[in-house]
Amino acid sequence: MIFSNPKLKKLIEKYRQIKLLGETRAILGWDLNVNLPEKAAQERADQSAFLTDLMVDRWLDPEFKKLFETIVSKKENLTKEEKAMVRNLEQSAKFYFNIPKKIIVEFDETTSKAFMVWKKAKQENKFADFLPDLKKIIKLNQIIAAHLGFKTNPYDALLDLYEPELTSKKCVQIFDHLQPALTALLAKIQKSKDYRPESDLISGVLSYPKSDQRQLSLFVLKKMGYDFASGRLDVSPHPFTTELSRNDIRVTTWYHENDFRDSLTAAMHEGGHGLYEQGVDTIYNSTPLSGGVSLGIHESQSRFWENQIGRNPVFLKFLTPLLQAFYPEQLGQAGEETIIKLFNLVKPSLIRVEADEVTYNLHIALRFQLENDLINEKIKPKDLPSLWREKTKQFLGIEPKTDREGVLQDVHWSYGDFGYFPTYALGNLYAAQFTRAMEKDLDLKQLCAKGELGTILSWQREKIHRHGSLYWPDQLVKKVTGEELKADYFIEYLQKKYGEIYDL
Ligand code: MG
Repeated sequence: MIFSNPKLKKLIEKYRQIKLLGETRAILGWDLNVNLPEKAAQERADQSAFLTDLMVDRWLDPEFKKLFETIVSKKENLTKEEKAMVRNLEQSAKFYFNIPKKIIVEFDETTSKAFMVWKKAKQENKFADFLPDLKKIIKLNQIIAAHLGFKTNPYDALLDLYEPELTSKKCVQIFDHLQPALTALLAKIQKSKDYRPESDLISGVLSYPKSDQRQLSLFVLKKMGYDFASGRLDVSPHPFTTELSRNDIRVTTWYHENDFRDSLTAAMHEGGHGLYEQGVDTIYNSTPLSGGVSLGIHESQSRFWENQIGRNPVFLKFLTPLLQAFYPEQLGQAGEETIIKLFNLVKPSLIRVEADEVTYNLHIALRFQLENDLINEKIKPKDLPSLWREKTKQFLGIEPKTDREGVLQDVHWSYGDFGYFPTYALGNLYAAQFTRAMEKDLDLKQLCAKGELGTILSWQREKIHRHGSLYWPDQLVKKVTGEELKADYFIEYLQKKYGEIYDL
C-alpha cells in the first residue's frame, strides 16, 4: 500500500507489530479450542496473557501514541483509504488507551482459563462449577464498560466493541419489531396442513458416521470456493472461524453421530465467515483495513451461506442425490421434499445454533435481555439457570430440562464476550437485505439448482469481501443495497420462503 503521509506509513508499520502479536495469540486460541489437554488450561492462560501484555505495551508505546495523535489531529489531507484506517485505529485504540493494562491482561488470562472450565461444566451439566469464573468475567466487563465510557447504559460500551455505534436502544427497537412477526409466522407454520414433525420425516434412531460427515462438509466448502490452501477444517466444542494470518483462515465444525445436518450447516456457516476473510483485497494486508468490518457484517456472510444457500430448497434438491449416496440406508428413501423439510423444520427448540431461521432471533432476544440486565446489575449471575428457563418459556414456549441445554449451551460468556450476541440478529437482517440486492443481479434459484456457487461468491467478493474494513457497516449496507438497514426485508424473506414450503 502506498501512503500519502510518511507519518501514517510509520504508524502502520508499528501497527503491523501489534497485528503480528495478535495473530500469534490467535494461534494459541485456536489450539486451545481444538487441541488443548485439560490439565494445560492455566499454562495456556499464562501464555496468552503474556502476549496480551506485549500487545498492550505496543499500543501504549509513547512513539506510537504520539504518531497516532498527530495523525488523528490532521486527518483532512488523507485519502479515503487512509481516513478509514485512522477511523478503525481510533475504534481499537479506545480499548487500549482507556482501559488499564492490568485489566486487559487479567481479562485475557481469566477468559482463556474460563473456556476449559465452561467446557467441563457443560459436559457435566454443572453450572455451579462455571459460576465463579462467570461472575469474574461479568465484573471485568463492567469495569471495562466504565473505562470505555457511555451515555446512559454501560452495556452500550460493550456493544460498540463488536458493532460500531450499536446501542441497547437500537437492539430493543429491532427485537420489539421482530418478535411479534416471528411468533405469528411460527404459529402459522405449525398450523399448516403441510407441517410435519421431525418424527414423521425420519424414523428410528439413525447413525451417520463422522467420516462421511467430514467428506460432505469438505465437498460443500470446496464448492463454495473456500480455499484450503489458505485454511483448514477442524473440530471444536463450538464451531468457529479464526484469522491466524492473511493466508491462514481456519474454520471448525462439529459432528453429531445422530444428526447429519448439524455438521453441514455449521461448515457452511463458518465457511461463509472464512470466505469473507479470504476475499479481502490483499492490498490491505497488515493494515487496519484487513479483515471483516464488524461482527454483524461478518455474521451476514456466514448466515447467508448457511441459510440463503444451505437451507435453500433449490440447493437442497441439488444436494439430495449426494446425501443419498453418502447415507444410502438412512436417506435412500427420503425424497427431495423430505430433505427440504428436514433442513427447514420450524419449531421452538432449546439450542440456538440448531434453531431454525424463524425462531433463531428469539434466542438472541433472550440473550440480549439477560446480558443487559447482568451488566446493569438488575439480575444476579447465580439466578441465571432459572432466569434462562423462564425466558425460554416466555420466548419459545418450552423449557430446558438441563443447564447444558440452557444457560451453559454457548461458549461466548467463557470467552468474555458480552455484547456479542446481538450482532447475530443483525447478521440475519443484513443477510436478507444483501440477498435482495443480489437477486437484482443474479438468478439465485438457477445458480443453486445447478450448484454454481462460484458466481454467487464472485458477487460477494466484488460488493462486500474485497472492501475489508474500508466501509463501516452502515456505509456498506447503503453502498450495496442503496438503503439503510431495514428489518422488514428479513421478515418478508421468511414469509415468502416458508409460505412456499408450508403452503401458507
Ligand atoms: Mg458466526
